[in-house]
Amino acid sequence: MPYRHTALTLVPASHPASSPELSLHEVMDRLGPSVFAGLLDVDGRLCYANQAALQAIGSTPEQVIGRLFDATPWWQGCELSQRRVRQALASAARGEASRFDVRITTASGATLAMDFSLLPLFGPDGRVLWLIPSARDVSERDQAQRQLLLTRNAVEQAHDALMQVGPDGAFRDANAAACRLLGLTREQLLRLRVSDVDTQVDETQWPLRWREMCERGALRFETSLRHPDGHEIPVDVSVSLVSSGDEIFAHVSVDDLRERRAAERRIQQLLQFDELTGLPNRQLLYERLGAILQTGAETGVLLLEIDRFKRINDGLGTPIGDAVLREAAQRIAATVRSIDLVARRGGDEFVVVMPAPSVPALDTAQTLLNAIARPMLIDGHEIHITCSIGIASAPADGEHADTLVRRANAALHRARLLGRNQASVYAGSPHDDDPERLALETALRRALRDDQLELHYQPQLDLGHGRIVGVEALLRWRHPTLGAIAPDRFIPIAEETGLIVPIGDWVLRRAIEQAASWQRAGLPPLRMAVNLSARQLLQPDLTRRIEALLAASGLDPRRFGVEVTESMLIANFDQAVQHLNALRALGVEVSLDDFGTGYSSLSYLRRLPVDVVKIDRSLVPDVSAPAEAVSITRAIITMAQQLQMKVLAEGVESEGQAALLAASQCDQMQGYWFSAPVPADAVEAMLRQGRQIDAALIGRRSRQRTLLLVDDEENILAALRRLLRAEGWLVLCAGSAEQALELMARHEIDVILSDQRMPGMTGVELLRRTRQLYPETIRLVLSGYTELQSITDAINEGAIYKFLAKPWDDEQLRAHLREAFAMKEMTDQNRRLGLEVQAANRELAELNRRLQTLLSAQREQNLREVGSREAAQELLDAMPVPMLGVDDEGLLVFANAPARALCGLAGERLGEPAGEQLAPSLRQALEGTAMLVTLAGRRWWAISRLLDGNARGRLLVLLPQTEASK
Ligand code: C2E
Ligand code: MG
Ligand code: MG
Repeated sequence: MPYRHTALTLVPASHPASSPELSLHEVMDRLGPSVFAGLLDVDGRLCYANQAALQAIGSTPEQVIGRLFDATPWWQGCELSQRRVRQALASAARGEASRFDVRITTASGATLAMDFSLLPLFGPDGRVLWLIPSARDVSERDQAQRQLLLTRNAVEQAHDALMQVGPDGAFRDANAAACRLLGLTREQLLRLRVSDVDTQVDETQWPLRWREMCERGALRFETSLRHPDGHEIPVDVSVSLVSSGDEIFAHVSVDDLRERRAAERRIQQLLQFDELTGLPNRQLLYERLGAILQTGAETGVLLLEIDRFKRINDGLGTPIGDAVLREAAQRIAATVRSIDLVARRGGDEFVVVMPAPSVPALDTAQTLLNAIARPMLIDGHEIHITCSIGIASAPADGEHADTLVRRANAALHRARLLGRNQASVYAGSPHDDDPERLALETALRRALRDDQLELHYQPQLDLGHGRIVGVEALLRWRHPTLGAIAPDRFIPIAEETGLIVPIGDWVLRRAIEQAASWQRAGLPPLRMAVNLSARQLLQPDLTRRIEALLAASGLDPRRFGVEVTESMLIANFDQAVQHLNALRALGVEVSLDDFGTGYSSLSYLRRLPVDVVKIDRSLVPDVSAPAEAVSITRAIITMAQQLQMKVLAEGVESEGQAALLAASQCDQMQGYWFSAPVPADAVEAMLRQGRQIDAALIGRRSRQRTLLLVDDEENILAALRRLLRAEGWLVLCAGSAEQALELMARHEIDVILSDQRMPGMTGVELLRRTRQLYPETIRLVLSGYTELQSITDAINEGAIYKFLAKPWDDEQLRAHLREAFAMKEMTDQNRRLGLEVQAANRELAELNRRLQTLLSAQREQNLREVGSREAAQELLDAMPVPMLGVDDEGLLVFANAPARALCGLAGERLGEPAGEQLAPSLRQALEGTAMLVTLAGRRWWAISRLLDGNARGRLLVLLPQTEASK
């Protein structure tokens, strides 16, 4: 029972007699456990203290009443508070009220932060009669304030530009990075609104933007910001709506895209354009030509080569040679229409692609010959050059970029042999060169009808937890006599003939039915991915049909996915994107297949509605791969993930590859190492057995939280251990600082809780040491002994995270330690993120450097090729032995002078099928290795050799039969 001072059962004079009477004591006792109150006489002696105040210090009224207030146990733990209370008593005696914050140490050892006030109570004569001390627990407020300060500092120092925007669009706050980005002081920025800096939102549009934010809660978009200098800054903006009380504001995080954009542009430029002339390079040529051909338009392909370019390079030097090439490029571009594509194929070769030509290609070629033949004035030299041109046309000479360029090349050979400075049109016929293909085409038409097709499924695994998360459906064709035929062989034929449409339909239906039956069987959920073909993507009703199949089978669309390649999308970008968007809206996942093989471009990737990027197996490095190979893969992973896409690595064949990918933060994988494509029942068996990747391999097994307790008193260590047993932490104990240091060397410690007063080395000293050795540990002191100065110093210099007092409150101590672990994990994560960003930047720079080297190497190679090709031709013409060259399509592409004389070939016969041009005996000789033939009344040894390397085809050499060889 609290003690009651008899003099003080008080009813204010003004109190209406009818209202319930309440003594001051009763009022004070009802204030609740967090409000302390009492009464002092004018001399500062305690006359009364409420229950809450007494309980806090574990005293009875008898122990404290009558004592001078500043000498009571409330102030024992804190000298500073005691001093201020003493001053307040003096002021109160003079009739002045005081209010300040104090710290009170409770019986349980906890420290309370309190808002303390001391009020004088005056008698009717105006003299001070009583003093009323009261204190309110504001630990929470203090804590919140500290938290706020921490957050504030973190925000202020954040690398990202962060701002707060109110519903009216006005900036309410901004950190230093935001001010730096915008080139404004904080004061200037806080006077502005979003519409003053965002180039895409004006004042009238702001309310709409705000409404959109309110509806969605969060937004992410790209825009650009106005800098006071006048330039614009491209940025990626993430907004989330925050409400605090009845206030609502937007938290905006702004990511400066300038560096990323510049790097992307650079990579793009390097990948697709020729450095010397600025024209599209070979890669972009094939990409664009492929796209043009997909439209089905009639297209002319002109392959132009500068005649005897080597002489210019050798005679006048490469700088002049380069200038000639630049000038030639300009003249070509100026001659053709603006819709025509001009590219540099390499060395001294240019290609002009003319979709839907308005005049015959041969006429354009003639204009080009004239344009190039005009004298060039370069660096004081008047230079005369000519060129030769080969022409092929789609669809007559083929429908594929490769075929057309090869055929234009055959025509170019002929132009060259006819004496150069002229154009020649390809004259062979396209489809008679592959009888096996024709047979396959016929067989494929039957395959679908006769049920020879089948689907196999290859598991796709998540590298985070190691489980199967999907399968890819892969088509298999088992022909009754030809056996298994690989998709790479028959899919292109199916594409060209249009058979892919019914086949693709069959695949979709089959795969969806299979996935639905797994879903019905209650197997662990997985996603079925189906490869789409270019033609399927061109069908306007593709999405509708997939939706209907999903609905009919009952398969959850989230368990279905499609795989497409970049080249497919180029054909009809808008329609493809529409389909993919519509499919994603259903929940279907879209994967970009074979990334890294074709025209893989990062900025293009950004525009594609894609969830997963599948890195082609040629880019999946092994542990023994050179560092650059790994860094390119990592750069792709980092960038795809920045674009919010997942990354799956294809063709993983070894454990080493899988581990490397997991370490590179790749999300998923598939490949022979885990499983080849297998029939449905084999997948089912894997799912039932729960087959997965060993967790140790992917290194994601999480580490146990580890705590080190240091105290020289054995019983304290034991008590703490008992207290923390239920937390599931690994708790290590050390009886001295030395022992603690030893344990730290052997274990990775997250949190240390150390006693202060220990023989040898104090806790503060130990933690100072620890900070130097293991700065990432979180360090706390638990001590009954408060040597204030050294501890405050240690806290200020960062050696100690927190100081906890003995005796401790169990619950509070546990809470502090949990918080310390959370803090540790947060800093670990921040550090990892920081390292990843650094690594990604380094990789980007490395990628750029490698591309540069690659490009200059290519340039040298081109120059060398031109030189050696011309020299070789002259050499071969001068050889006294007849020689013929036939390319891998069976076209006669080369005949030296003796061969032309012997076989009666004129230059214009080159580029045509060898079968039609050569005597039957020679045709036969081409098939074998060596045989005797009779030509021009003489016997010859015809020796045929397969060519590999850059030129593909066969070389036929004719040696006169001598007496000796008979
Ligand atoms: P893809 O979509 O890139 O499929 C992956 C290919 O890699 C498959 O070849 C698969 O068997 C193979 N593969 C998987 N793991 C490994 C590995 O560890 N090492 C190696 N070396 N290869 C691995 P597959 O089955 O021969 O298919 C080839 C291509 O044919 C596919 O490439 C896809 O583009 C196409 N294709 C297959 N089925 C269909 C289909 O139903 N429709 C369409 N349109 N195309 C299909
Ligand atoms: Mg695929
Ligand atoms: Mg692939």
